[in-house]
Amino acid sequence: MTFSRRDFLRTGAVVAGGITFIPLTALADGHSMHEFKTANGMVKVHPVSHASVVLETPEGVIYVDTVGDPAQYADLPKPDLILITHEHGDHYNAETLAALKGDETPLITNPAVFDMLPENLKSNATQIGNGGTTSFKAVNIEAIPAYNTTEERKNFHPKGRDNGYVLTVDDFRIYISGDTEDIPEMRALEEIDLAFICMNLPFTMDAKAAASAVAEFKPKVVYPYHYRGRDNGTQDPVDFANMVGAVAEVKMGDWY
Ligand code: ZN
Ligand code: ZN
Repeated sequence: MTFSRRDFLRTGAVVAGGITFIPLTALADGHSMHEFKTANGMVKVHPVSHASVVLETPEGVIYVDTVGDPAQYADLPKPDLILITHEHGDHYNAETLAALKGDETPLITNPAVFDMLPENLKSNATQIGNGGTTSFKAVNIEAIPAYNTTEERKNFHPKGRDNGYVLTVDDFRIYISGDTEDIPEMRALEEIDLAFICMNLPFTMDAKAAASAVAEFKPKVVYPYHYRGRDNGTQDPVDFANMVGAVAEVKMGDWY
């Protein structure tokens, strides 16, 4: 099955593979939202922009890489937990966090971001490094490495500094790549139900590398995210969907 750009633009959603899913729902503010079933409830995915996503889970509302105008979050439920992958401005912004984080809201970051947190954000913050695990209520959180492997890109995301995350909610496993290339640690992931895979050159990887990694770890459902300049020919989410083919169900979020 091949998807055209027109399909993408018309529906905002691309479906591949034989998995049944719950259709796209449009919210009043224009954000798209998808729902996925876990053992004890639903996970609702709200793409916000670029790398920022909000997950409503049976264990609470999880914000990831929360940046930009706080007004983008006005129609979304407040966070019970915030995760930050790394220090770049499209993933970490202290002012946005200060505006959206409640006094008691836990914040989980990689060690480098933890070290740069202002005092007002530090009190409820926890750091975990690559391979580390922690939990929030019944959600298990594992920090997956996120780094560049191409020589001339290594300065963007040096190995060992930044995180991706695997969240296990009930029996439902969500992988958030952060900014990375198609590293062995991604390819080795197992039993991922839902994956968010970054694409954009020169900072991360192109659609081909992203699709190749997906073909190896075979998440049930995958969102391309963190893509810019769809027309430069290397990070088109429609190309990504076509390359992934029937290996995984590809979902498109309104990331912009
Ligand atoms: Zn980055
Ligand atoms: Zn980024």
